[in-house]
Amino acid sequence: MHAWETATTELAPGVFAYVQATGGFCVANAGVISGGGETTVIDALFTPNMTQALLDETRRVAPSPIKRLLNTHHHVDHTLGNALFPRETEIVAHERAKAEMQRAGLGVLGIIQRMATHFAGQLDDIEERLPDTTFDGAALELEAGGRAIRLLHFGTGHTRGDVLVHLPEERVLFLGDVGFFGVTPMSHEGHVGNWIRICDRIINEVDADVLVAGHGPVGTKEDLARFRAYLQLVHDRSRRAFDSGVSVQEATDSIDLGEYAEWGEPERLSININRCYQEFRGEIEL
Ligand SMILES: [Zn+2]
Repeated sequence: MHAWETATTELAPGVFAYVQATGGFCVANAGVISGGGETTVIDALFTPNMTQALLDETRRVAPSPIKRLLNTHHHVDHTLGNALFPRETEIVAHERAKAEMQRAGLGVLGIIQRMATHFAGQLDDIEERLPDTTFDGAALELEAGGRAIRLLHFGTGHTRGDVLVHLPEERVLFLGDVGFFGVTPMSHEGHVGNWIRICDRIINEVDADVLVAGHGPVGTKEDLARFRAYLQLVHDRSRRAFDSGVSVQEATDSIDLGEYAEWGEPERLSININRCYQEFRGEIEL
């Protein structure tokens, strides 16, 4: 996979992907939907600098007020910027994502700054802002300036409260972190077996030509199929290793990732294998 730049790309009239270069740790993507005198933003990003750059781009391509902000899941690299949006912007998420935000709080920021020291000093005096509106079910139909927006929850994949944002007319799908393109996924709070089934549902049931991953460049269902194959490889090899009583470390050392070895953040493999082991032990609540 070639490198990509931070850029705003118009996918359909008034529908934009805001993709950040590298797609690495806490460097996520966002989306902007505008028309009919209002703007909807998908995900708020992480550091104040990242969120400010997204807000500047949003105002450049979509000058109407930001009526709504959608959080695709609770992780701070998608939600920490919530508080920098205008107070009158309505923040919408799945009920389970809001519950995860309330459970996790901002305590994770200290851990992140120790793991990634380049974020130190960029995360001081951060205010937390929770979603204003939630839904608790498989779907929520919204309307934005005459455009249909469907929020879809297919269960626990990357996290318990994942939401996909589907524009059926435009055939565009924002995956949040249900999709990582060209970047190794992180499943420390997910369920890899179920995540594979969710990828299948998206491929078979959701009409979309353009898919925007939570990390990585804009893609298509082909990219999602390749991503699904990574999850399947890790799940299958983990199962074999688990059944033969091999440790997570030994399983990690013995997997040949092939083409996926070129994806960013490859060291996440052991986290993903560990999560598969938890799944096989029946420790993950769906
Ligand atoms: Zn995430």
